[in-house]
Amino acid sequence: MTAWRRGLHARPEIAFREERTSELVAGLLAGFGLEVHRGLAGTGVVGTLRRGGGRRSIALRADMDGLPVTETAGLPYRSQVPAAMHACGHDGHMAMLLGAARELAHSGRFDGAAHFVFQPAEENEGGGRVMVEQGLFDRFPADTVFGLHNWPGLDAGHFAVRPGPVMAALDLFEVRLRGRGAHGAMPHLAIDPVVAAAEMIGAFQTIVSRNVSPVEAAVVSVTQVQGGDTWNVIPEAVRLRGGARYFRPDVGRVVEEGIRRIAAGVASAFGATVEIDYQHRYPATVNEPEAAAIAARVAAEVVGPERTLPDVPPSMASEDFAFMLQARPGCYVWLGNGPADGGRALHSPSYDFNDEILPVGAAYWVRLVETILA
Ligand SMILES: [Zn+2]
Ligand SMILES: [Zn+2]
Repeated sequence: MTAWRRGLHARPEIAFREERTSELVAGLLAGFGLEVHRGLAGTGVVGTLRRGGGRRSIALRADMDGLPVTETAGLPYRSQVPAAMHACGHDGHMAMLLGAARELAHSGRFDGAAHFVFQPAEENEGGGRVMVEQGLFDRFPADTVFGLHNWPGLDAGHFAVRPGPVMAALDLFEVRLRGRGAHGAMPHLAIDPVVAAAEMIGAFQTIVSRNVSPVEAAVVSVTQVQGGDTWNVIPEAVRLRGGARYFRPDVGRVVEEGIRRIAAGVASAFGATVEIDYQHRYPATVNEPEAAAIAARVAAEVVGPERTLPDVPPSMASEDFAFMLQARPGCYVWLGNGPADGGRALHSPSYDFNDEILPVGAAYWVRLVETILA
């Protein structure tokens, strides 16, 4: 698994371009004796292993894409591809699931079908959604679906899980504010979009503090402000971009409505015009309680109950495994990658997956299949 992981780390591929990765994964799965299917979402790979005459089935998912990040750590197996890096540990996720497939093909004791799903484009582009839309669960009917992600900041080899929402929904928005430009010394001749944008950014912060119930979680962040070219000209337009995150769809509706209302209202108050592009990217990742209980029990059997957190607080980050959990009940767990400081956080240019947890993740997958398809 370490050799696979480091080989994958050296050759990262970005969303929907995981051709070489897909080739390698498919070749290994076929070599273990699995039925291999390719082509869902382009580079997606599904390997199927059957035992006995049982009709029950389970799907296990790993992600395959790297990020457009330039690696800075001087590892011997560092990325050989410019501006591409496995900075989220998907190299490790693939290696663990491949290890589990090999072990289960060799000596697995279960009755039914286990589908090993390798998805493209987890980062930003929703490869998991595309696989579901293209019929993942029609071609590979699975009663339940399970996912796993390494988690810096959680002790290495510890598991964390929770029933219900575990990661947030993600919406992205762009606000294009248009006024009238003028000389910087003659503001009375302008409709200043910079002043209007400043009011808008401040007012957006009242959505969470004044529109969302204080016992619910939501985030509204303006992360990009673009407008103007120089010191002494009031520009004609300003563009704001940002994101919103939340767990519950009704909270999401309040947030979207708030952004649209405030953008339109502030622009109107200043005599400016506004266009709003609001996109729903990922829904919340919601663990089915029974599946979460099984996942926690299996994790505790693998690493011990003292290393398993069965009810951790959720994260406001997002995950496209959410689309698979909308289609099938299941559970998404975090596996501790060790400390997150010193550039070891996810998406950091000096991040590296912790190879010590490869056997832990693989053992969890094997035991999960043998438990659910006992
Ligand atoms: Zn990531
Ligand atoms: Zn990731």
